[in-house]
Amino acid sequence: MKQALFGKTVQELSEMAAELSLPRYAAKQIAGWLYRRQVSSIDAMTDLSAKTRELLNARYVVGLQEPEAVKKSKDGTKKYLFPVADGKYVEAAYIPDRDRATLCISSQVGCRMGCAFCMTGKQGMNGNLTSTDILNQFRSLPEQASLTNIVFMGMGEPFDNLPEVMKSLEILTADDGYAWAPKRITVSTIGILPAVKHFMENSRCHIAISLHHPVHEERKRLMPVENKYPIQQIIAQLKTYDLNRQRRISFEYVMLAGINDSLREAKEMVKLLSGLQCRINLIPFHAIPDSPFKPSGRDAIQQFDAALQQKGMIVTVRQSRGLDIDAACGMLSTTRKWHK
Ligand code: SAH
Ligand code: SF4
Repeated sequence: MKQALFGKTVQELSEMAAELSLPRYAAKQIAGWLYRRQVSSIDAMTDLSAKTRELLNARYVVGLQEPEAVKKSKDGTKKYLFPVADGKYVEAAYIPDRDRATLCISSQVGCRMGCAFCMTGKQGMNGNLTSTDILNQFRSLPEQASLTNIVFMGMGEPFDNLPEVMKSLEILTADDGYAWAPKRITVSTIGILPAVKHFMENSRCHIAISLHHPVHEERKRLMPVENKYPIQQIIAQLKTYDLNRQRRISFEYVMLAGINDSLREAKEMVKLLSGLQCRINLIPFHAIPDSPFKPSGRDAIQQFDAALQQKGMIVTVRQSRGLDIDAACGMLSTTRKWHK
């Protein structure tokens, strides 16, 4: 099977060019066609010689995939179904919001982290995406031109697929790629310590950490990762970085009635995060089938929010978008049937 050119970094294109004995500048030319001019065939790369195109065509394709289906929410959110390698699929959500438009992309087919409240977690792990498949959700999105932000908050745990996610970020932000400002991109993770370190030291994009409970024993029950990488350690690590003003650390906190939404947890959270420059994003829980969890009431969320703000924390409550098409946080999954 032919390999995809789309999704290769300039470095990888250079290695390929060397292997095919192409001129040195060919890698940059090809990157320009792939990411700036966004062509979908090798034949469209008209400043490459006919011979070079022939060489490339023999082994490579550009490798784009159109979405196979779309669902539209009454709030304007759209959920796309994208084919990926091995006959599998992932979902991506397009979320317009006044003068912003955010794309929520997937990094894995399913997820093996097993968080108790998450639909993707229920699906289990069905495979890692390549940078080709990660970036194709952006490249082949009909609304690409209107996007202002990208969040890695779709299916999967980005830091469980670190190399491909890092390559995707590089292509999105490099001058030879899409030249997006890193501050328009946020990667969300449950906190895998070595990957957090690597990301903080090798990327300038924002990081969002899924906190969900400030107390070790209780977080363990919600998120098995706490056994291996306790949130305390993640926070201690984050405190070692000098943040420039462009970079943001935020914590996501899904509000579960009677589990993590009392003033006790608010207090514990303030203690845990004290000394770290960060923001908190409270997320209404989106009920998933066969789950014992219930969403916190509006009052509970307000009180929790107020308790944190009173202690000087910067808090926002995330709007639920695309609920009617199962596109809201934690609802993406490709186990259910799509009506195309
Ligand atoms: N795996 C990464 C990114 C994907 S999930 C992570 O966990 O951070 C994006 C956010 O949705 C995470 O904060 C996740 O904890 C949250 N989430 C998962 N299930 C949810 C649900 N049922 N309702 C609301 N948010 C949920
Ligand atoms: Fe995976 Fe994130 Fe869902 Fe946890 S919340 S199971 S890490 S996708």
